[in-house]
Amino acid sequence: MLPKILPALVHPARRSPGSTPAHTSGDSTSRVSGEAPGRTTGHERLLAGVEHATGIPVDAATATRLGAIPETDPNAVAAALTGVLPGRFAVTGTLDRRLLFAERASQASGWTIADLSGQEHLTRSWPQWAQDRIQIATPQTWLSAGEVSEEAAQRLLRPRVLLAALYHPEWFPLPRFPLAISDLARAARSTLIGQVTLMDMQLGATLDDIRAAVDDLAPDVVGVSATFGQHDLMIELLDDLFGSPRPPLVLAGGSLTARNEGLLLKRYPDLMVARGAGEPTIADVLSHFHGDLERDQIRGIGYTGAARGGGLMIARPATRGEQSTLVRPLPSAALRTATLPNRAVTEILPELDLLDATFDHHGVAQLETSRGCTSACSFCPRSHKGKWAPGGAQDLDWILDAMRTVFDRHPGISRTLYLVDEEIIGRGDDAVPRIRAIAAALQAAGLSWESSCRIDQVVRPDRDRDWHLERAQLWRDLVEQGLRRMLFGVESGVSSILERFNKDTTSDQNALAIRTLSALGVPTRYTYITFDHLMDADELAATHAFQGRTDLLLRPLPHLSVEEIIDGIDDPQFVAAHQTGRAFYTGISYMLVSMECLSGAAYTRAVQARGLTRTARPSMGRVDAEFADWRIGACSHHAQLWIDRSFALDYTAKSLEKILNGQPRDLLHQARVTIRHAAYVVLTEMLALIDRYSAQSAGRTEALRLKGNLQAVLDGELAELTTRMATVVNAALPALPDDAQALLKAEYERWRQPQPWRLINAAEACGT
Ligand code: SF4
Repeated sequence: MLPKILPALVHPARRSPGSTPAHTSGDSTSRVSGEAPGRTTGHERLLAGVEHATGIPVDAATATRLGAIPETDPNAVAAALTGVLPGRFAVTGTLDRRLLFAERASQASGWTIADLSGQEHLTRSWPQWAQDRIQIATPQTWLSAGEVSEEAAQRLLRPRVLLAALYHPEWFPLPRFPLAISDLARAARSTLIGQVTLMDMQLGATLDDIRAAVDDLAPDVVGVSATFGQHDLMIELLDDLFGSPRPPLVLAGGSLTARNEGLLLKRYPDLMVARGAGEPTIADVLSHFHGDLERDQIRGIGYTGAARGGGLMIARPATRGEQSTLVRPLPSAALRTATLPNRAVTEILPELDLLDATFDHHGVAQLETSRGCTSACSFCPRSHKGKWAPGGAQDLDWILDAMRTVFDRHPGISRTLYLVDEEIIGRGDDAVPRIRAIAAALQAAGLSWESSCRIDQVVRPDRDRDWHLERAQLWRDLVEQGLRRMLFGVESGVSSILERFNKDTTSDQNALAIRTLSALGVPTRYTYITFDHLMDADELAATHAFQGRTDLLLRPLPHLSVEEIIDGIDDPQFVAAHQTGRAFYTGISYMLVSMECLSGAAYTRAVQARGLTRTARPSMGRVDAEFADWRIGACSHHAQLWIDRSFALDYTAKSLEKILNGQPRDLLHQARVTIRHAAYVVLTEMLALIDRYSAQSAGRTEALRLKGNLQAVLDGELAELTTRMATVVNAALPALPDDAQALLKAEYERWRQPQPWRLINAAEACGT
């Protein structure tokens, strides 16, 4: 789209009708042209830009040095240009439209402005602030001379922005590409304001490294991203930042901070908490730095201060049951500005600065094609639930191409992309064409993929046979086109529990969908909440029975038509003829998971209404709660101890499984199934124990006796598991590449050492 501001960007003196538009008129380096024939890669265009600025050819050593730097890392490019360019310069803009601004050598004067994508300057949506501050001589070229006002030069270079993602690597030993800060980096760079540096504790950076970077870079803006379990790291870093003599502007975001906003604002009155999609917020923070916006005009923040403009103070209800009210703000009140709905956030793609480092650390590539979901699960407090918004599937080609280039540099990593959408298919008339377009783009890029969606994308009781046939064909085609695995949050196989969870699904629907997917050969993962605070012993027994069903996972039936499969899945004879005999729990990603009472969720309110909630833990975004049946509560606690005992090993096996293919991947999967099998045995023994105790409130002696029994169950099954894991791990290790082998071996050795049973307070977000 031609930007409205374009005429102001064109230096009138440089326009000469009849002159070759591709050339920079009045240029002393006439051999350098805006068309730059033969300059077909970003690297070649960078060299052309450098030559344009210096007026001399780039020497071979410098060209080689620049050529070795990935285009995905603009800070490394900028570091390499230091000393090469004659004056101030900025490498800015997003990966697909990277820009070089460079002051030219004295004989030429002015600035070089090079769009390293090779697209004409006039095709860029220039930010509003550039109007009247940047003038481009030949906007119909990608390489032009121009004028950059002093104020514009300051904006290109400041603020210095440091975006840091916090992690406990001991809980999550293998990384995932840090999408949150990478999305923010893209949003920030798209404004052409400032310089952005990214750091992620998953990738080897420690808190001390982040502190050292703060000392070295002296950032004007620090963005900190934290999910559940990182409150301690967040507090340590924020204490440091706000304890410094001249604190930067600090923006905290992530699923944890959105939920403990009040706590953070009380402790750090100058903090800004990002409450929704961070892209508009970071862009506004940069504008705020340059005085274009007041703080209360920054979209989607919580902050402390007197309200102006759109700020609203949320008054907490005085008593339970009373409504929250909006009241006139007072000084030092906690204030909020309006968030931008997901559907209005058009850009959800990342910068790729850290993708190489992610692969170096055996991590996985991640991307999003949509935001929000079509569900309204009662246990979920996310503001975007039920509000699904597609990203532009048509915009994926360039980012997939860029990712493929990074994959090329890491041939040992499986070319698999994790689409971390909470609901990849979504809704609406174009849902099917949209997912088909995404699959086609991924296939064209040579990438396989994994993602998540709802079970009602497979089976819907309110839809007819034709709808199910169309969906069955879709699933088959997606697998054909590279779908490697799909996660379904079934969460339960018991209808009364599904109702309580507001999943809008039934046990039968889940059973039919699991059969359909397995018969169609769709590789799946299922998440399942085994324990919840409001369940009774019959529901737990029904849960155990569903997880142990052997009539759900059918053999892949590629020789049957979709009609034969859809018509067969509720026919007992068909099922008997094709079932694998494998229990359903072998397909559950993490066994024995318990409900978490997250602050603000409808489920938590239901638990509160039963008088079961206890201490609020704002640092974790949740509330402690008793179980309605004390025996189930004791089982849930011990189940969590069981999960945490093997979490790091299971997570390592899962993460390596994600980046490997073929036999090594199968062997790692076998190790995970072995852990699931042991978990099912634990659940079976727990049920037997429950029967030996009364549901009535326990006395201390009874509670201690059950605790002792449960401890014995865990100890006994861990001993069994240790023997079985020795066999499966020793079988897997020789098949793994050296680095994966070393990782698994180290984690396995740690795991097999005697350890006390303890909780680690780690939790994963929906769909991971
Ligand atoms: S738990 Fe996941 S699927 Fe359910 S409402 Fe929340 S975001 Fe949506």
